[in-house]
Amino acid sequence: MIDTNARRTQFAEQPRLLLLLPSITYRASAFVDAARRLDTLLTVASDRASALAGHQPSGLLTLDFDDPDRAAEQARTFADEFPLTAVFGVDDNTTLVAAAVAAELCLPSVPVRAARVARDKQLQRSTLAECGLPVPGFTAHDIAEPAEVVAQSAPYPCVIKPVALSASRGVMRADSAEEFVRMHARLARILAAPDVQSRRSSSQCTVERRYLVERFIPGPEVALEGLLVDGELHVLALFDKPDPLDGPFFEETIYITPSRLPADTRQSITQCVKRAAHAMGLDRGPVHAELRVNEGGVWMIELAARPIGGRCSDALRFGETGAISLEEVLLGHALGRVPPVPAREQCASGVMMIPTPAAGVLREVRFVEEARRVPGVTDLVITAHIGQRLVPLPEGSRYLGFIFARSRTPAEVETALRRAHEALIVTIDAEC
Ligand code: ADP
Ligand code: CA
Repeated sequence: MIDTNARRTQFAEQPRLLLLLPSITYRASAFVDAARRLDTLLTVASDRASALAGHQPSGLLTLDFDDPDRAAEQARTFADEFPLTAVFGVDDNTTLVAAAVAAELCLPSVPVRAARVARDKQLQRSTLAECGLPVPGFTAHDIAEPAEVVAQSAPYPCVIKPVALSASRGVMRADSAEEFVRMHARLARILAAPDVQSRRSSSQCTVERRYLVERFIPGPEVALEGLLVDGELHVLALFDKPDPLDGPFFEETIYITPSRLPADTRQSITQCVKRAAHAMGLDRGPVHAELRVNEGGVWMIELAARPIGGRCSDALRFGETGAISLEEVLLGHALGRVPPVPAREQCASGVMMIPTPAAGVLREVRFVEEARRVPGVTDLVITAHIGQRLVPLPEGSRYLGFIFARSRTPAEVETALRRAHEALIVTIDAEC
């Protein structure tokens, strides 16, 4: 039996970070490395019990990610024995749980309400619209409403999107009522998928049934990666998305920073994110915002209270020598370290999320080495494994892999990413 008081005293000096990691994530190692570099004690919480938890009671914790209030109670029991300095969630869902845990333990965090607004697309749209922010006109529906009726009042072209999914899963454009009805049937099947259904809990079951119908906003899209410190927005990077995202599905491909948009447009984008964060009650921590730009101005598509997803954060390096990762910047801020916001390195940088070209079983990816040797390419990882069943958008949400490039200019980065992608030959066996 270990004496709890002795343990408390032993760790009193060293901070302990509770990191909430979903069991399916590309990013565990980047966060764990960052915690190590920040010299903090680390507890990794996930929603599945680990066989190793018994051997490492302070290092691993199981929390109910589907029920933030229950997770907060579980974290309280843990923190009574192992006091926590900070809590950090890495994606949309865990950000909400982290906020609930932080509120329970009086740790610094965004308010639970703000995390909820960021997580729920309907609540976010209405919150931003009420504050006069430029968002697409929208209506909200339950998937059980007859599609033909909703189709009659939809503004065409429109976008139909589930309230609670992410990574563009289930997001579709419809140009006519007939197309709407087809897309709606597709969305109903996605919402009935086992992994969506299994996320249902007392707190989420109505969310999972809802979807939005929005006016389609044309124009180029950008992503802003930021960190809120005491209510102040620090722009970590502004990415252009040079491939047009006109639908019918919205597959992310290339992100390149710095943006090639004019300075005044970049300024308007930053202003829009600042106002949106303020309207939503977000005052600290990471934000990942997606916006569209056209002759009508800058439009907020989504503001998430989390960092960029997938492996994409590897495209961002900070500090004079580029030795600091995005995860280190974010966890450093969560732990109250100063200075929290170093500048991004000087060069242009980009990432391509390699699209899933077809449904089926992945058999082979050839010419990976050749693609890696394309000038400017710094890394290429195939994250799907051979034999894996691949599901393209709108049903799926995982990428084949990621290509990274750095160079003097954004144009050179874009060329490198495209050339590397063209070099790859992907073999997929169609399923019967
Ligand atoms: P998710 O959380 O799944 O990423 P988003 O609302 O960000 O959902 O939608 C995914 C993508 O779909 C956006 O990045 C954008 O390209 C496109 N999209 C979503 N809503 C609209 C809209 N109203 N007009 C134009 N494009 C949209
Ligand atoms: Ca998005």
